Amino acid sequence: MQLSHYIKVYPHETPGLLLVYSTKKASISLIPETIYSSVENGSLSPEDEASLLKLGVVVSDREEEKKEMRLIIDRLNAKNRGLNVSVIINMACNFDCIYCYEGTLKGGHYMSGETAGLLIDFIKERFTKGKNLLNLDFYGGEPLLSAGLIKEISESLKSFTSDRGASYTFSLVTNGSLFKRKVAEELVRAGLTAVRITIDGDAETHNRNRPFRTGAGSFDAIIGNIKETYDLVRIGVGGNFDRGTYERFPLLLDYFEKEGLTPDRICEVKFGPVSKRPDEDTSPADYTDWCLSVNEPWVLKAGSLLREEILKRGYSTPKIMPMPCQIEIADAYVVNYDGVIYKCPALVGRKGFDIGDLQTGLRDYSYSHRLDIWKNDDCIECEYLPLCFGGCRYMAYVRDGNIDHPDCKRPYFDTSLETLIKQDIKYRRPSRTK
Ligand code: SF4
Ligand code: SF4
Repeated sequence: MQLSHYIKVYPHETPGLLLVYSTKKASISLIPETIYSSVENGSLSPEDEASLLKLGVVVSDREEEKKEMRLIIDRLNAKNRGLNVSVIINMACNFDCIYCYEGTLKGGHYMSGETAGLLIDFIKERFTKGKNLLNLDFYGGEPLLSAGLIKEISESLKSFTSDRGASYTFSLVTNGSLFKRKVAEELVRAGLTAVRITIDGDAETHNRNRPFRTGAGSFDAIIGNIKETYDLVRIGVGGNFDRGTYERFPLLLDYFEKEGLTPDRICEVKFGPVSKRPDEDTSPADYTDWCLSVNEPWVLKAGSLLREEILKRGYSTPKIMPMPCQIEIADAYVVNYDGVIYKCPALVGRKGFDIGDLQTGLRDYSYSHRLDIWKNDDCIECEYLPLCFGGCRYMAYVRDGNIDHPDCKRPYFDTSLETLIKQDIKYRRPSRTK
């Protein structure tokens, strides 16, 4: 047995113990130094070998492991029995967020009934034999301004999947202001299972950043709606911070606790930076970056501070785990309100990144989207590969104007990974070898 290539080893406060994180299996282990040395000198007991193998800490052959790594996404795609389609159902909104990117597009672009029909045909065609889960994520603008159409699309697809013995679910990324109990009940009947509501910090900060178009604050309306609906559907909260506002986000968590919106009622919380976007950006405003990240020092500091605040209050937040960019996932698409198809919500509207449309079908995007950009020696040799896979093409585009090179996250992982793992140890239970 040999140590896996895809592990990181950190010191632990307890003398004689090492903290070992497998980037491939997302496992956290506390391993006695004696056992760790016995891997290096070939004297590992069969019992320890079995448990370290399971945790991804050891492999039978490191060189073979690296070769296998090149095939990992192909294998994932071959095994995927789901189809995931993000639908930007409109480009219209009842809010006037200060950082909104929708610019002149905001205010009146809705998916038509005809386009929705084509969308349903497109999905049915791609829901091939062997698929057993169809999931749609609806974005806007504000998707609930098109609640009727979401219901129609969902009812049609629900009946289609049920005839095949498969499941249909959908989720919403919404500003939360229109998510009343009656709306929620109807949508849950149509297949709604999860909602992500954007709240930008405490009432004062949020109301300044995300007012209604009338100028009135939206915070109280959103909190009222969450209280009305948390028993019907899984509600997650996302928020967009910047350099001047991130310190106010813990106040939102305090407020949640005070108002009874405890961790059993809010299924996940994640705050992310408002990222730099090009002027011509038309991607969904609230698609804020559950997969983007930036290497700037203040973002690293704010990100880990807020993660600690979330975890210490008992709320769930995403774990650090292997996550390829959605562009690499074969059965995942983004369809804009006008029927143009993309691979990533952040690349919507960007010239050269559409991959077809609902009328004429899909084009080969393997070169335009630089599939396999991570299959180079530097990335294969990099222990962070399973967490990164060449980073975010959108961030590379914003920075370089093209996606010809990986968006290397090494500085981010070098600075943050140990802290993030130690947060998980503090608030979640790690695996421990004897
Ligand atoms: S390009 Fe970036 S934002 Fe788009 S799916 Fe990939 S990681 Fe996410
Ligand atoms: S882009 Fe950088 S961090 Fe990501 S896998 Fe390649 S070398 Fe590693």
